[in-house]
Amino acid sequence: MTFDVVIAGGGTSGSALAGLLVEQHGLKVCLIEAGPDYGTLASGNWPSDLLDASSIPEDSHAWGYSGLATHSAKESTSFDRAKVIGGCSAHNGCIALLGHYRDYDEWVNIGNPGWAFGAVRPSYLRAMERLRVRQPTKSEITPFQSVLLKGAAASGIPIVDDLNDSRELTGVAAAPVNIADGVRWNAALAYLTDEVRSSGRLMVLDNALVDRVEFRDRRAVGVFVRRDGVEERIRGNRIVLSAGAYGSPGILERSGIGDPSIVHSLGLDLTQALPGVGENLTDHPAVCLVYRGSDELNATMTEMRQSGWCPDEQVLVKSVSSQCEDAFDLHIYAVSRFNQETSDWEYQIHVSSVFPTSRGSVHIRSADPAELPEIDHRFLSNADGQDLAVLLDGVRQARRMMQPAIDSGLMVEETSPGGEITDREELRQFIAENVGIYYHPACSCRMGRSSEPDAVVDTFGRVHGIRDLVVCDASIFPVLMRANTNLPAVMVAEHLAPSIAAGR
Ligand SMILES: Cc1cc2nc3c(=O)[nH]c(=O)nc-3n(C[C@H](O)[C@H](O)[C@H](O)COP(=O)(O)OP(=O)(O)OC[C@H]3O[C@@H](n4cnc5c(N)ncnc54)[C@H](O)[C@@H]3O)c2cc1C
Repeated sequence: MTFDVVIAGGGTSGSALAGLLVEQHGLKVCLIEAGPDYGTLASGNWPSDLLDASSIPEDSHAWGYSGLATHSAKESTSFDRAKVIGGCSAHNGCIALLGHYRDYDEWVNIGNPGWAFGAVRPSYLRAMERLRVRQPTKSEITPFQSVLLKGAAASGIPIVDDLNDSRELTGVAAAPVNIADGVRWNAALAYLTDEVRSSGRLMVLDNALVDRVEFRDRRAVGVFVRRDGVEERIRGNRIVLSAGAYGSPGILERSGIGDPSIVHSLGLDLTQALPGVGENLTDHPAVCLVYRGSDELNATMTEMRQSGWCPDEQVLVKSVSSQCEDAFDLHIYAVSRFNQETSDWEYQIHVSSVFPTSRGSVHIRSADPAELPEIDHRFLSNADGQDLAVLLDGVRQARRMMQPAIDSGLMVEETSPGGEITDREELRQFIAENVGIYYHPACSCRMGRSSEPDAVVDTFGRVHGIRDLVVCDASIFPVLMRANTNLPAVMVAEHLAPSIAAGR
Protein backbone atom coordinates (compact mmCIF):
# COMPACT_ATOMS: atom_id res chain seq x y z
CA MET A 1 0.00 0.00 0.00
CA THR A 2 1.27 3.48 -0.85
CA PHE A 3 0.06 6.32 1.38
CA ASP A 4 -0.53 9.83 0.11
CA VAL A 5 1.70 11.12 2.89
CA VAL A 6 4.01 9.33 5.32
CA ILE A 7 4.93 11.38 8.41
CA ALA A 8 8.03 10.38 10.40
CA GLY A 9 7.41 11.46 14.00
CA GLY A 10 3.98 11.71 15.65
CA GLY A 11 4.90 14.58 17.96
CA THR A 12 3.52 18.09 18.21
CA SER A 13 3.82 19.11 14.55
CA GLY A 14 3.44 15.55 13.21
CA SER A 15 0.15 14.84 15.02
CA ALA A 16 -1.28 18.20 14.00
CA LEU A 17 -0.23 17.74 10.38
CA ALA A 18 -1.60 14.18 10.19
CA GLY A 19 -4.96 15.26 11.59
CA LEU A 20 -5.26 18.16 9.16
CA LEU A 21 -4.28 16.12 6.09
CA VAL A 22 -6.86 13.43 6.91
CA GLU A 23 -9.68 15.68 8.09
CA GLN A 24 -9.41 18.65 5.74
CA HIS A 25 -7.76 17.19 2.66
CA GLY A 26 -9.14 13.63 2.66
CA LEU A 27 -5.65 12.11 2.32
CA LYS A 28 -4.44 8.65 3.34
CA VAL A 29 -1.73 9.20 5.94
CA CYS A 30 0.67 6.93 7.79
CA LEU A 31 1.94 8.53 11.02
CA ILE A 32 5.00 6.78 12.42
CA GLU A 33 5.91 7.39 16.06
CA ALA A 34 8.82 5.96 18.07
CA GLY A 35 6.77 5.93 21.28
CA PRO A 36 3.34 4.56 22.18
CA ASP A 37 0.01 5.79 20.79
CA TYR A 38 -2.62 6.11 23.52
CA GLY A 39 -5.56 6.87 21.24
CA THR A 40 -8.25 9.40 22.04
CA LEU A 41 -8.96 10.73 25.52
CA ALA A 42 -12.13 8.63 25.65
CA SER A 43 -10.06 5.44 25.21
CA GLY A 44 -8.96 5.85 28.84
CA ASN A 45 -5.45 4.68 27.88
CA TRP A 46 -3.55 7.92 28.48
CA PRO A 47 -1.27 7.74 31.58
CA SER A 48 -2.37 10.18 34.27
CA ASP A 49 1.01 11.96 34.45
CA LEU A 50 0.74 12.94 30.78
CA LEU A 51 -2.78 14.25 31.26
CA ASP A 52 -2.22 16.13 34.54
CA ALA A 53 -1.36 19.66 33.42
CA SER A 54 -0.41 20.89 36.89
CA SER A 55 3.09 19.36 36.73
CA ILE A 56 5.65 18.34 34.12
CA PRO A 57 6.10 14.54 34.36
CA GLU A 58 9.64 13.59 35.29
CA ASP A 59 11.39 10.84 33.35
CA SER A 60 8.13 9.67 31.78
CA HIS A 61 8.36 8.69 28.09
CA ALA A 62 11.79 10.33 27.85
CA TRP A 63 14.23 9.89 24.97
CA GLY A 64 17.15 10.25 27.38
CA TYR A 65 18.99 12.94 25.39
CA SER A 66 21.73 14.74 27.30
CA GLY A 67 24.90 16.73 26.75
CA LEU A 68 26.95 19.65 27.99
CA ALA A 69 25.07 22.96 28.06
CA THR A 70 28.38 24.81 27.63
CA HIS A 71 31.85 23.54 26.83
CA SER A 72 33.02 24.43 30.33
CA ALA A 73 30.06 22.73 32.07
CA LYS A 74 31.14 20.23 34.71
CA GLU A 75 28.03 18.08 34.49
CA SER A 76 25.86 16.83 31.70
CA THR A 77 22.37 18.39 31.29
CA SER A 78 19.27 16.43 30.39
CA PHE A 79 17.79 17.69 27.11
CA ASP A 80 14.31 16.23 27.70
CA ARG A 81 12.10 15.18 24.76
CA ALA A 82 9.01 13.00 24.92
CA LYS A 83 8.79 9.70 23.05
CA VAL A 84 5.03 9.35 22.71
CA ILE A 85 2.22 10.31 20.37
CA GLY A 86 1.81 14.08 20.72
CA GLY A 87 5.56 14.39 21.40
CA CYS A 88 6.63 17.14 23.76
CA SER A 89 3.14 18.64 23.72
CA ALA A 90 2.18 15.57 25.78
CA HIS A 91 4.53 16.37 28.70
CA ASN A 92 5.26 20.09 28.62
CA GLY A 93 4.36 23.16 30.67
CA CYS A 94 1.37 24.14 28.45
CA ILE A 95 2.43 27.79 28.16
CA ALA A 96 0.99 28.94 24.82
CA LEU A 97 2.80 32.00 23.45
CA LEU A 98 3.60 33.21 19.96
CA GLY A 99 6.34 35.82 20.47
CA HIS A 100 6.69 39.21 18.84
CA TYR A 101 5.51 40.19 15.36
CA ARG A 102 9.08 41.19 14.47
CA ASP A 103 10.24 37.58 14.88
CA TYR A 104 8.20 36.52 11.84
CA ASP A 105 8.72 39.67 9.78
CA GLU A 106 12.43 38.99 10.17
CA TRP A 107 11.93 35.47 8.76
CA VAL A 108 10.68 37.16 5.57
CA ASN A 109 13.55 39.68 5.56
CA ILE A 110 16.07 36.84 5.54
CA GLY A 111 14.48 35.11 2.56
CA ASN A 112 11.39 33.19 3.65
CA PRO A 113 8.34 34.66 1.90
CA GLY A 114 4.96 33.69 3.30
CA TRP A 115 5.93 33.78 6.99
CA ALA A 116 5.30 37.44 7.90
CA PHE A 117 3.35 37.87 11.12
CA GLY A 118 0.20 38.82 9.20
CA ALA A 119 0.50 35.59 7.18
CA VAL A 120 1.12 33.23 10.12
CA ARG A 121 -1.47 34.84 12.39
CA PRO A 122 -4.45 32.92 10.93
CA SER A 123 -2.50 29.66 11.38
CA TYR A 124 -1.86 30.66 14.99
CA LEU A 125 -5.52 31.43 15.60
CA ARG A 126 -6.56 28.02 14.26
CA ALA A 127 -3.87 26.31 16.35
CA MET A 128 -5.01 28.15 19.47
CA GLU A 129 -8.60 27.11 18.94
CA ARG A 130 -7.66 23.46 18.46
CA LEU A 131 -5.37 23.48 21.49
CA ARG A 132 -8.13 25.13 23.55
CA VAL A 133 -5.78 27.94 24.58
CA ARG A 134 -7.27 30.04 27.34
CA GLN A 135 -6.31 32.71 29.83
CA PRO A 136 -6.07 31.39 33.44
CA THR A 137 -8.57 33.03 35.80
CA LYS A 138 -7.37 35.17 38.73
CA SER A 139 -8.53 32.56 41.23
CA GLU A 140 -6.27 29.95 39.58
CA ILE A 141 -3.09 31.92 40.25
CA THR A 142 -1.19 30.29 43.11
CA PRO A 143 0.15 32.32 46.06
CA PHE A 144 3.74 31.83 44.87
CA GLN A 145 2.88 32.89 41.32
CA SER A 146 1.29 36.04 42.80
CA VAL A 147 4.64 36.85 44.43
CA LEU A 148 6.23 37.20 40.97
CA LEU A 149 3.21 39.00 39.52
CA LYS A 150 3.21 41.62 42.28
CA GLY A 151 7.01 41.88 42.46
CA ALA A 152 7.31 42.43 38.70
CA ALA A 153 4.60 45.09 38.83
CA ALA A 154 6.38 46.79 41.75
CA SER A 155 9.58 46.85 39.70
CA GLY A 156 7.81 48.73 36.89
CA ILE A 157 6.66 45.95 34.55
CA PRO A 158 3.05 46.59 33.45
CA ILE A 159 0.43 43.96 34.30
CA VAL A 160 -1.13 43.11 30.92
CA ASP A 161 -4.31 41.31 29.88
CA ASP A 162 -2.72 39.04 27.30
CA LEU A 163 0.94 38.11 26.87
CA ASN A 164 0.07 37.21 23.26
CA ASP A 165 -0.31 40.81 22.20
CA SER A 166 2.39 40.48 19.54
CA ARG A 167 3.24 44.22 19.55
CA GLU A 168 3.70 44.50 23.28
CA LEU A 169 7.24 44.89 24.60
CA THR A 170 7.24 44.22 28.31
CA GLY A 171 4.49 42.81 30.48
CA VAL A 172 3.61 40.39 33.23
CA ALA A 173 0.58 38.11 33.50
CA ALA A 174 -0.41 34.52 33.96
CA ALA A 175 0.46 33.07 30.55
CA PRO A 176 -2.21 31.65 28.23
CA VAL A 177 -2.28 27.85 28.46
CA ASN A 178 -3.53 24.87 26.47
CA ILE A 179 -5.20 23.25 29.47
CA ALA A 180 -8.80 22.02 29.40
CA ASP A 181 -10.37 20.97 32.73
CA GLY A 182 -6.92 20.30 34.16
CA VAL A 183 -5.92 18.15 31.15
CA ARG A 184 -2.77 18.97 29.16
CA TRP A 185 -4.49 19.41 25.79
CA ASN A 186 -1.72 18.00 23.64
CA ALA A 187 -1.51 18.03 19.84
CA ALA A 188 -2.65 14.39 19.54
CA LEU A 189 -5.82 15.05 21.56
CA ALA A 190 -6.41 18.24 19.58
CA TYR A 191 -5.89 16.89 16.04
CA LEU A 192 -6.11 13.07 16.09
CA THR A 193 -9.79 13.22 16.94
CA ASP A 194 -12.35 10.39 16.96
CA GLU A 195 -13.42 11.53 13.52
CA VAL A 196 -9.87 11.40 12.14
CA ARG A 197 -9.07 8.07 13.76
CA SER A 198 -12.28 6.42 12.57
CA SER A 199 -12.04 7.81 9.01
CA GLY A 200 -10.12 4.78 7.74
CA ARG A 201 -7.56 7.17 6.24
CA LEU A 202 -5.12 7.32 9.16
CA MET A 203 -2.72 4.56 10.14
CA VAL A 204 -0.69 5.23 13.29
CA LEU A 205 2.36 2.99 13.45
CA ASP A 206 3.55 3.35 17.04
CA ASN A 207 6.67 2.03 18.80
CA ALA A 208 8.34 2.28 15.38
CA LEU A 209 11.67 3.98 14.79
CA VAL A 210 12.22 5.69 11.43
CA ASP A 211 15.71 4.91 10.21
CA ARG A 212 16.08 6.59 6.81
CA VAL A 213 14.29 7.77 3.69
CA GLU A 214 14.07 5.66 0.53
CA PHE A 215 14.76 7.46 -2.77
CA ARG A 216 14.19 6.85 -6.44
CA ASP A 217 15.84 9.31 -8.87
CA ARG A 218 16.31 11.96 -6.16
CA ARG A 219 12.68 11.64 -5.20
CA ALA A 220 11.59 10.45 -1.72
CA VAL A 221 9.32 7.42 -2.09
CA GLY A 222 9.22 5.89 1.39
CA VAL A 223 10.91 5.31 4.72
CA PHE A 224 12.63 2.36 6.35
CA VAL A 225 11.29 1.71 9.83
CA ARG A 226 12.46 -0.54 12.69
CA ARG A 227 9.69 -2.14 14.69
CA ASP A 228 10.11 -5.07 17.11
CA GLY A 229 13.61 -5.61 15.70
CA VAL A 230 12.27 -6.01 12.14
CA GLU A 231 12.88 -3.57 9.28
CA GLU A 232 9.77 -2.50 7.37
CA ARG A 233 9.41 -0.25 4.36
CA ILE A 234 6.51 2.23 4.26
CA ARG A 235 5.77 3.79 0.89
CA GLY A 236 4.33 7.27 0.33
CA ASN A 237 3.86 9.80 -2.44
CA ARG A 238 5.21 12.43 -0.09
CA ILE A 239 7.47 11.99 2.92
CA VAL A 240 7.39 14.45 5.80
CA LEU A 241 9.93 14.48 8.65
CA SER A 242 8.42 15.71 11.94
CA ALA A 243 10.88 14.10 14.34
CA GLY A 244 11.73 17.37 16.09
CA ALA A 245 14.89 19.48 16.28
CA TYR A 246 17.00 16.59 17.60
CA GLY A 247 15.37 13.86 15.46
CA SER A 248 14.77 15.26 11.97
CA PRO A 249 18.46 16.09 11.24
CA GLY A 250 19.36 12.50 12.18
CA ILE A 251 16.90 10.97 9.71
CA LEU A 252 18.29 13.26 6.99
CA GLU A 253 21.90 12.33 7.81
CA ARG A 254 21.13 8.60 7.85
CA SER A 255 19.52 9.16 4.44
CA GLY A 256 22.76 10.64 3.12
CA ILE A 257 21.58 14.27 3.27
CA GLY A 258 23.88 16.60 5.15
CA ASP A 259 27.46 17.73 5.44
CA PRO A 260 29.40 15.39 3.10
CA SER A 261 32.23 14.96 5.61
CA ILE A 262 29.78 13.78 8.32
CA VAL A 263 27.84 11.51 5.95
CA HIS A 264 31.02 9.92 4.58
CA SER A 265 32.65 9.58 8.02
CA LEU A 266 29.77 7.33 9.06
CA GLY A 267 30.21 5.09 6.01
CA LEU A 268 27.03 6.34 4.33
CA ASP A 269 26.50 7.27 0.68
CA LEU A 270 25.89 10.94 -0.05
CA THR A 271 22.44 11.67 -1.48
CA GLN A 272 22.50 15.46 -1.25
CA ALA A 273 25.13 17.80 0.17
CA LEU A 274 23.41 20.16 2.63
CA PRO A 275 25.98 21.32 5.20
CA GLY A 276 23.30 23.06 7.28
CA VAL A 277 21.69 19.80 8.42
CA GLY A 278 22.06 19.67 12.23
CA GLU A 279 23.68 23.13 12.38
CA ASN A 280 22.17 26.39 13.75
CA LEU A 281 20.66 24.49 16.69
CA THR A 282 19.15 27.20 18.90
CA ASP A 283 17.43 27.15 22.28
CA HIS A 284 16.74 29.70 24.96
CA PRO A 285 19.42 29.39 27.66
CA ALA A 286 18.02 29.67 31.18
CA VAL A 287 19.28 29.96 34.71
CA CYS A 288 17.39 29.18 37.89
CA LEU A 289 17.28 31.06 41.21
CA VAL A 290 15.95 29.06 44.18
CA TYR A 291 14.01 30.48 47.13
CA ARG A 292 12.80 29.28 50.52
CA GLY A 293 9.27 30.32 51.36
CA SER A 294 7.81 31.27 54.74
CA ASP A 295 5.54 28.89 56.70
CA GLU A 296 2.68 31.19 55.72
CA LEU A 297 3.39 30.82 52.00
CA ASN A 298 3.87 27.04 52.32
CA ALA A 299 0.58 26.72 54.18
CA THR A 300 -1.41 28.66 51.56
CA MET A 301 0.24 26.65 48.77
CA THR A 302 -0.61 23.38 50.53
CA GLU A 303 -4.18 24.52 51.05
CA MET A 304 -4.54 25.32 47.35
CA ARG A 305 -2.94 22.00 46.41
CA GLN A 306 -5.44 20.15 48.59
CA SER A 307 -8.26 21.96 46.80
CA GLY A 308 -7.19 20.06 43.66
CA TRP A 309 -5.60 22.61 41.30
CA CYS A 310 -2.20 24.19 42.00
CA PRO A 311 -0.12 24.35 38.80
CA ASP A 312 3.68 24.55 39.05
CA GLU A 313 4.03 27.15 36.30
CA GLN A 314 1.87 30.19 35.42
CA VAL A 315 3.15 33.75 35.70
CA LEU A 316 5.62 34.99 33.12
CA VAL A 317 7.40 38.32 32.69
CA LYS A 318 8.51 39.63 29.31
CA SER A 319 11.33 42.06 29.96
CA VAL A 320 14.16 43.94 28.30
CA SER A 321 17.87 43.70 29.07
CA SER A 322 20.49 46.36 28.41
CA GLN A 323 21.48 44.37 25.31
CA CYS A 324 18.07 44.59 23.64
CA GLU A 325 17.40 47.04 20.86
CA ASP A 326 13.95 45.93 19.76
CA ALA A 327 11.00 44.20 21.43
CA PHE A 328 12.11 42.17 24.48
CA ASP A 329 14.77 39.57 25.17
CA LEU A 330 14.01 38.10 28.60
CA HIS A 331 11.47 35.70 30.06
CA ILE A 332 11.33 35.52 33.85
CA TYR A 333 8.94 32.89 35.19
CA ALA A 334 8.04 31.19 38.45
CA VAL A 335 7.95 27.43 39.09
CA SER A 336 6.93 25.78 42.37
CA ARG A 337 7.93 22.21 43.22
CA PHE A 338 6.19 20.09 45.84
CA ASN A 339 8.07 17.10 47.24
CA GLN A 340 5.46 14.39 47.83
CA GLU A 341 7.71 12.43 50.19
CA THR A 342 8.76 15.28 52.50
CA SER A 343 5.80 17.64 51.84
CA ASP A 344 8.37 20.42 51.31
CA TRP A 345 7.94 23.26 48.85
CA GLU A 346 10.73 24.67 46.69
CA TYR A 347 10.29 27.93 44.81
CA GLN A 348 12.20 28.72 41.64
CA ILE A 349 12.51 31.80 39.48
CA HIS A 350 13.86 31.02 36.00
CA VAL A 351 15.50 33.65 33.84
CA SER A 352 15.85 32.96 30.14
CA SER A 353 17.47 34.85 27.30
CA VAL A 354 14.82 34.55 24.55
CA PHE A 355 16.77 36.23 21.74
CA PRO A 356 20.09 34.39 21.99
CA THR A 357 22.87 34.66 19.44
CA SER A 358 24.83 31.48 20.33
CA ARG A 359 24.27 28.52 18.01
CA GLY A 360 24.91 24.80 18.51
CA SER A 361 24.66 21.59 16.53
CA VAL A 362 23.16 18.10 16.60
CA HIS A 363 24.63 15.23 14.59
CA ILE A 364 24.33 11.46 14.55
CA ARG A 365 27.24 9.44 15.93
CA SER A 366 26.61 6.34 13.82
CA ALA A 367 24.27 4.95 11.18
CA ASP A 368 22.33 3.09 13.90
CA PRO A 369 18.95 4.86 14.40
CA ALA A 370 18.80 3.58 18.00
CA GLU A 371 21.97 5.46 18.97
CA LEU A 372 21.26 8.93 20.37
CA PRO A 373 22.84 11.90 18.57
CA GLU A 374 25.55 14.19 19.87
CA ILE A 375 23.88 17.39 21.01
CA ASP A 376 26.13 20.41 21.48
CA HIS A 377 24.10 23.48 22.40
CA ARG A 378 27.16 25.71 22.99
CA PHE A 379 25.08 28.06 25.16
CA LEU A 380 26.78 31.41 25.90
CA SER A 381 29.40 30.71 23.21
CA ASN A 382 28.90 33.92 21.20
CA ALA A 383 32.14 35.85 20.96
CA ASP A 384 30.90 39.11 22.48
CA GLY A 385 29.41 37.50 25.60
CA GLN A 386 26.00 38.98 24.84
CA ASP A 387 23.91 35.99 25.97
CA LEU A 388 25.68 35.94 29.34
CA ALA A 389 25.18 39.70 29.71
CA VAL A 390 21.44 39.28 29.02
CA LEU A 391 21.14 36.58 31.68
CA LEU A 392 23.09 38.68 34.15
CA ASP A 393 20.64 41.57 33.64
CA GLY A 394 17.76 39.14 33.96
CA VAL A 395 19.03 37.70 37.24
CA ARG A 396 19.33 41.19 38.70
CA GLN A 397 15.82 42.07 37.54
CA ALA A 398 14.42 38.83 38.96
CA ARG A 399 16.04 39.58 42.32
CA ARG A 400 14.45 43.04 42.34
CA MET A 401 11.08 41.41 41.65
CA MET A 402 11.49 39.00 44.57
CA GLN A 403 12.75 41.60 47.04
CA PRO A 404 9.33 42.92 48.18
CA ALA A 405 8.28 39.39 49.22
CA ILE A 406 11.57 38.90 51.10
CA ASP A 407 11.15 42.29 52.79
CA SER A 408 7.61 41.38 53.87
CA GLY A 409 8.74 37.98 55.17
CA LEU A 410 6.58 35.98 52.73
CA MET A 411 9.76 34.59 51.16
CA VAL A 412 12.55 33.75 53.61
CA GLU A 413 15.62 33.86 51.39
CA GLU A 414 17.26 33.09 48.09
CA THR A 415 19.10 29.81 48.62
CA SER A 416 20.77 29.57 45.19
CA PRO A 417 22.98 31.25 44.25
CA GLY A 418 22.29 32.94 47.62
CA GLY A 419 21.52 36.55 48.38
CA GLU A 420 25.09 37.16 49.62
CA ILE A 421 26.41 36.74 46.07
CA THR A 422 26.08 40.18 44.56
CA ASP A 423 29.47 40.73 42.97
CA ARG A 424 29.17 40.98 39.17
CA GLU A 425 32.00 38.52 38.46
CA GLU A 426 30.69 35.96 40.96
CA LEU A 427 27.22 36.20 39.45
CA ARG A 428 28.63 35.80 35.94
CA GLN A 429 30.46 32.70 37.11
CA PHE A 430 27.31 31.31 38.71
CA ILE A 431 25.39 31.79 35.47
CA ALA A 432 28.17 30.32 33.32
CA GLU A 433 28.38 27.23 35.54
CA ASN A 434 24.65 26.73 35.96
CA VAL A 435 23.10 27.70 32.65
CA GLY A 436 20.45 25.23 31.57
CA ILE A 437 17.80 24.86 28.94
CA TYR A 438 14.23 26.16 28.45
CA TYR A 439 13.52 23.00 26.34
CA HIS A 440 12.92 24.86 23.08
CA PRO A 441 15.43 23.28 20.64
CA ALA A 442 14.84 24.48 17.08
CA CYS A 443 16.40 25.69 13.79
CA SER A 444 18.54 22.56 13.12
CA CYS A 445 17.08 22.17 9.57
CA ARG A 446 16.61 25.83 9.02
CA MET A 447 14.47 27.33 6.29
CA GLY A 448 16.16 29.56 3.70
CA ARG A 449 17.06 30.08 0.06
CA SER A 450 18.95 27.30 -1.72
CA SER A 451 21.73 29.81 -2.38
CA GLU A 452 22.43 30.00 1.37
CA PRO A 453 24.96 27.32 2.31
CA ASP A 454 23.31 26.49 5.65
CA ALA A 455 19.66 26.42 4.49
CA VAL A 456 18.09 22.95 4.55
CA VAL A 457 14.48 23.53 3.46
CA ASP A 458 12.69 26.15 1.38
CA THR A 459 9.75 28.31 2.36
CA PHE A 460 7.36 25.32 1.92
CA GLY A 461 9.52 23.06 4.12
CA ARG A 462 10.84 21.17 1.06
CA VAL A 463 14.34 19.76 1.40
CA HIS A 464 16.61 21.52 -1.11
CA GLY A 465 17.59 19.32 -4.03
CA ILE A 466 15.20 16.41 -3.29
CA ARG A 467 11.64 16.00 -4.53
CA ASP A 468 8.71 15.04 -2.27
CA LEU A 469 10.65 15.34 0.97
CA VAL A 470 9.45 17.95 3.47
CA VAL A 471 10.43 18.81 7.04
CA CYS A 472 7.61 20.11 9.25
CA ASP A 473 8.51 20.77 12.90
CA ALA A 474 10.43 23.21 15.10
CA SER A 475 13.67 22.36 13.30
CA ILE A 476 12.73 24.51 10.28
CA PHE A 477 12.39 27.83 12.13
CA PRO A 478 14.99 30.09 10.47
CA VAL A 479 15.47 32.01 13.74
CA LEU A 480 13.98 31.08 17.11
CA MET A 481 11.00 33.22 18.10
CA ARG A 482 10.78 34.97 21.49
CA ALA A 483 8.27 32.42 22.71
CA ASN A 484 7.92 28.90 24.03
CA THR A 485 7.85 26.62 21.02
CA ASN A 486 4.82 24.31 21.35
CA LEU A 487 2.23 26.63 19.84
CA PRO A 488 4.72 27.66 17.10
CA ALA A 489 5.31 23.96 16.25
CA VAL A 490 1.55 23.54 15.77
CA MET A 491 1.39 26.78 13.78
CA VAL A 492 4.00 25.37 11.37
CA ALA A 493 1.80 22.31 10.73
CA GLU A 494 -1.27 24.50 10.18
CA HIS A 495 0.72 26.74 7.85
CA LEU A 496 2.29 23.98 5.74
CA ALA A 497 -0.65 21.54 5.58
CA PRO A 498 -2.23 23.08 2.43
CA SER A 499 1.02 23.02 0.39
CA ILE A 500 1.91 19.52 1.58
CA ALA A 501 -1.60 18.33 0.68
CA ALA A 502 -1.36 19.94 -2.75
CA GLY A 503 1.97 18.20 -3.37
CA ARG A 504 3.43 21.60 -4.14
C1 LIG B 1 9.91 19.61 29.69
C2 LIG B 1 9.42 20.49 28.59
C3 LIG B 1 8.58 21.56 28.88
C4 LIG B 1 8.15 22.40 27.85
N1 LIG B 1 7.23 23.37 28.13
C5 LIG B 1 6.71 24.10 27.11
C6 LIG B 1 5.67 25.03 27.34
O1 LIG B 1 5.20 25.20 28.46
N2 LIG B 1 5.19 25.74 26.28
C7 LIG B 1 5.71 25.59 25.02
O2 LIG B 1 5.26 26.28 24.10
N3 LIG B 1 6.68 24.70 24.78
C8 LIG B 1 7.17 23.93 25.77
N4 LIG B 1 8.12 22.99 25.51
C9 LIG B 1 8.63 22.88 24.13
C10 LIG B 1 7.63 22.30 23.13
O3 LIG B 1 6.83 21.31 23.74
C11 LIG B 1 8.38 21.72 21.92
O4 LIG B 1 9.22 22.71 21.38
C12 LIG B 1 7.48 21.27 20.81
O5 LIG B 1 6.55 20.36 21.33
C13 LIG B 1 8.30 20.65 19.69
O6 LIG B 1 7.47 20.10 18.70
P1 LIG B 1 8.09 19.21 17.53
O7 LIG B 1 6.95 18.70 16.75
O8 LIG B 1 9.14 20.00 16.83
O9 LIG B 1 8.86 18.03 18.26
P2 LIG B 1 8.29 16.89 19.22
O10 LIG B 1 7.02 17.29 19.85
O11 LIG B 1 9.42 16.51 20.09
O12 LIG B 1 7.95 15.70 18.23
C14 LIG B 1 8.90 14.84 17.65
C15 LIG B 1 8.30 13.44 17.64
O13 LIG B 1 9.05 12.62 16.78
C16 LIG B 1 9.27 11.37 17.41
N5 LIG B 1 10.51 10.85 16.82
C17 LIG B 1 11.76 11.36 16.91
N6 LIG B 1 12.62 10.62 16.19
C18 LIG B 1 11.90 9.62 15.63
C19 LIG B 1 12.22 8.52 14.78
N7 LIG B 1 13.48 8.31 14.32
N8 LIG B 1 11.23 7.67 14.40
C20 LIG B 1 9.95 7.87 14.83
N9 LIG B 1 9.59 8.89 15.65
C21 LIG B 1 10.55 9.75 16.03
C22 LIG B 1 9.36 11.71 18.88
O14 LIG B 1 9.11 10.59 19.71
C23 LIG B 1 8.29 12.79 19.01
O15 LIG B 1 7.02 12.25 19.28
C24 LIG B 1 8.57 22.15 26.50
C25 LIG B 1 9.39 21.06 26.22
C26 LIG B 1 9.81 20.24 27.25
C27 LIG B 1 10.68 19.06 26.91
